[in-house]
Amino acid sequence: MTTVHRVLHPDPINTLDDYVAARGGQGLEAARQVEPGVLIAELEASGLRGRGGAGFPTGTKWRTVRENHSPAVATTVVVNAAEGEPGTFKDRTILRNNPYQVLEGALIAARAVGASHIIFGMKRTFAIEVERVNNAIKEAHEAGWIDRGVEVSVFEGPSEYLYGEETALLEAIDGRYPLPRIAPPFRRGVTEVVQTEADAASESGLAAPVSMAGPSDGAVAPPTLVDNVETLANVPRIIARGADWFRTQGTEKSPGTIVCTVTGSVKAPGVGEVPMGTPLRQVIDEVGGGPRAGRRIRAVLSGVANGLVTEDQLDTPVSYEAMQEIGSGLGSAGFMVFDDHDDITAAVAGVSRFLAIESCGQCTPCKQDGLTLADALARVCRGEADGTDLEVIAQRGATVGDNARCYLALQHQAVVSSLVERFAHDLAAHVRGEAAPTEPALITELVDLDDGRTVLDDRFAQKQPDWTYDDEWSGKAPADRFGDHRAPEELEA
Ligand code: SF4
Repeated sequence: MTTVHRVLHPDPINTLDDYVAARGGQGLEAARQVEPGVLIAELEASGLRGRGGAGFPTGTKWRTVRENHSPAVATTVVVNAAEGEPGTFKDRTILRNNPYQVLEGALIAARAVGASHIIFGMKRTFAIEVERVNNAIKEAHEAGWIDRGVEVSVFEGPSEYLYGEETALLEAIDGRYPLPRIAPPFRRGVTEVVQTEADAASESGLAAPVSMAGPSDGAVAPPTLVDNVETLANVPRIIARGADWFRTQGTEKSPGTIVCTVTGSVKAPGVGEVPMGTPLRQVIDEVGGGPRAGRRIRAVLSGVANGLVTEDQLDTPVSYEAMQEIGSGLGSAGFMVFDDHDDITAAVAGVSRFLAIESCGQCTPCKQDGLTLADALARVCRGEADGTDLEVIAQRGATVGDNARCYLALQHQAVVSSLVERFAHDLAAHVRGEAAPTEPALITELVDLDDGRTVLDDRFAQKQPDWTYDDEWSGKAPADRFGDHRAPEELEA
C-alpha cells in the first residue's frame, strides 16, 4: 500500500486542540522565529508546486508577490477553495478532514508575503466545508494563532466552473462576475482601488486587463497571492521539518505527495494521498479499488484539462513531468476511469458540452467553436452525424483555442484532439452506425464523494450556455449577458 498521510490525515481532525495534539501548529511557530525571506527560500528549496492544476513553483510565486509588495497597501492571500474540476474532490476532502492545516499554511503565507488579509474563496454550495473553515478560523482566533492586524474571512461565491480559475476568483471577490482577466500568474488583486483602475483600462468593461508593473505611488494594491487548498496544506510541515524532509517523497521535478481522486468505472471511487511518481495503475487500484471484475480499463481522463490517457500508458508515473511526456497532464489529479463497457466518444462529448457551457464567451472561438464542437460530438454519439461532422470536429477542434484568454479553451482542444488521435476507431464506429447510439455522458462537478459513492451535479444537464437554467437559451454568452461586468445579483447556485 503506497497511500500516505502528509496532507490527508487517516482520521478527521475535529478541533484545533486535536490538531495541536497531532503536532499541528509547529510550522507557524517556526515561521514566527524567522524573517519572511527564510520562509520563501525554504519553499523554493522544497520544490513544492501548486496543486491546483498548473504545477507552478510555489516559492517563486511567493517571492514575486513579496518583491512587488507595496509600502502603502498590504497584500492579500487568497485560498483557492473553489474546487469544481469534474472528477476531483480532493480539496473538499482536505477541508472536511483537517481545515487547520490549510489555515496554518495560509497564515505562514501571509507572514511570508506581508499580507493583512486572508480570504478563503469557496462556493456557497460547499456548506460542510464553509462551516469547517469558519469554525477553524474562530478557534484560531481564540488560540492566538492569528496575528494582530491580520483579518481572515470566507468569501462564498458562485458555483460556476470558471470561479475556480485564479483571475476569475479574484474578479468574483472584487464584486464582479467570475470572468477571467488577461493577466500573468501574479496579478494585482483584491481591492476597490484596483477595480477602479482596471475598469478604466478596459474598453469593453469586461475582465479588465491588469498591469504586472510594481506599485508606483502606493495607491495601487500589490499582487495578490492565490494558492490552492492542497498547496497550502503542504506548507506547515515544509516549514517545520524542512525542504529536505519534503523531498524524501516524490520525484526530483515533482517532490512530495499528491492527493488523488479516482472515479468512474472502478470498484470504490475515492480520494487518497500517494507519493508523486506512483504509477497511475497503482493509484487507480489503491485509491479507487481498481477496475470492476472482468473489466479492462481503456482510458483515463485527468479532469477535463488534458488529453485521454490510453491503456498502454497506465503505468505512467503520476507526476507533472511524466504525465506531460505522454501528451496528457496531471491537472488536479482527478482521474476519471473508463473501461471496455464505456463509450469513450460519449465521455468526450460530455466533456465538450461541459466546457462549451462553462465558457464565458469573452473569446469568440472558445464559446462559438466550443458549442459547435459539442453539438457535432453529440450528433455523432446519437448516430445522427452527417458527412460533415467529422470535418467540423477536426476544424473547430483546431480553432477553439484561438486567442484564448484562459486555459478553458485549450483544455477543450486537448481533450477533443486526444479523442480524434487516440480513439479514431471509436469515433468512426459511431459515424458508420456500428456503435450503439447514446447521449453524451454527464460530465460535471462532483457534489459529494463518500464511502465509494459519487454524487454528480445533476442539475448541470439543464444548464444553458448563458449560465441560466431557463427552458431556452437566450442566444447570449455569459459575458454579453452580464453587460457592465458588475455582479448586482448572485448567480444561481
Ligand atoms: S478562453 Fe473561454 S472561458 Fe476563458 S476567458 Fe476566453 S471565452 Fe472565457
